[in-house]
Amino acid sequence: MNAPETTQSRPMPHVLNTYGRLPIALAHGRGCWVWDTHGKKYLDGLGGIAVNTLGHAHPKLVPALQDQIGKLIHCSNYYEVPLQEQLATKLCELSGLSGAFFCSTGLEANEGALKIARKYGHDRGIERPEIIVYEGAFHGRSIATLSATANPKVQAGFGPLVEGFVRVPLNDLAAVEHVARTNPNVVAVFLETIQGEGGIHPSRWDYLRSLRALCDRQEWLLMLDEVQCGIGRTGKWFAHQWAGVVPDVMPLAKGLGSGVPIGAIVCGPKAVNVLGPGNHGTTFGGNPLAMRAGVETLRIMEEDGLMANAAHVGGLLSGGLKQALSGVAGVVEVRGAGLMIGIELDRPCGVILQRAADAGLMLSVTADRVIRLVPPLILSADEAAQIVAILAPLVREFLATP
Ligand SMILES: *Cc1c(COP(=O)(O)O)cnc(C)c1O
Repeated sequence: MNAPETTQSRPMPHVLNTYGRLPIALAHGRGCWVWDTHGKKYLDGLGGIAVNTLGHAHPKLVPALQDQIGKLIHCSNYYEVPLQEQLATKLCELSGLSGAFFCSTGLEANEGALKIARKYGHDRGIERPEIIVYEGAFHGRSIATLSATANPKVQAGFGPLVEGFVRVPLNDLAAVEHVARTNPNVVAVFLETIQGEGGIHPSRWDYLRSLRALCDRQEWLLMLDEVQCGIGRTGKWFAHQWAGVVPDVMPLAKGLGSGVPIGAIVCGPKAVNVLGPGNHGTTFGGNPLAMRAGVETLRIMEEDGLMANAAHVGGLLSGGLKQALSGVAGVVEVRGAGLMIGIELDRPCGVILQRAADAGLMLSVTADRVIRLVPPLILSADEAAQIVAILAPLVREFLATP
């Protein structure tokens, strides 16, 4: 995210300067609304970057988390954690997969998926396993996941990169088939079902079906990063379900805990037994508080019909934006699925972030010129209309003033 420089002079921070932050500090929230420390109110079109599935201070989530904090926040993976069983069972039921490993972030889920792919290869006698990754991809900022990421800004200064990745363009089946014919070391295909940070670029559903067939033929793992697009955001539990495919490995994180840090690697039959005792671990992963947040998030989503809401209100929001911006020179495309929406402009538009905040709307700008909306899944039709009413004039004004 590129926030504009602020002219205001501020004291030297003790927090490392890794984000271009806006000079706004949020104090509390309720539903899809947040308030800053000066009492200014914002409509939350960002949801903490697709994290706050249930919005803020959800009346069903808060007491459940309070209950859990009063019982047990953390123990250790030396012991059985029944809530892990409960959440894994639920995720398997929803995805048709067979088992889950829990961690705390998206990059950690992806890092684990990459380890599974490499070990899957080694188990089959491939000494130097390679993984197909994509142009435009974002998978995280650890050394391995930034190597799998395509953004040169994410990689710059952190070489040498991890080897063992082959990069192809998205939605180009011939490119993957070419790798299949020429590279016997490939063990897995790894992609976001819908690219998020790369600018909201969906995989075509027929492309995913072809990839599934190719992976079956080649005995490769199909690994779908659903860290951003999963957990109901597109109107199905997982975005790949629109294509009718089932992956072998599915990393999850962002929306799974409604704000409590959590990640998961959900595995199908080909991947579920690749890791054994001693192969992988994490101190925080799977702790009772995070697991309770996951269990309750999924329960409340079901109870309150939030996937149907994401599909319906997402349709209203993207429809409203398309209508309000139709024919506006400089708007390239409004695209996405459900409540994962990108508005691509023909020029960098980082300044929109501050202007939207001034106008009382939280959003993000990704890939320099894509305005991204990933609000809580509880967004109402009225709130969607308010987003359009605030954002469309800002975009028109931005594009009109050179
Ligand atoms: C955000 C994101 C990640 C990284 O998640 P972190 O929790 O920030 O490590 C990985 N993959 C995708 C698709 C993401 O959107």
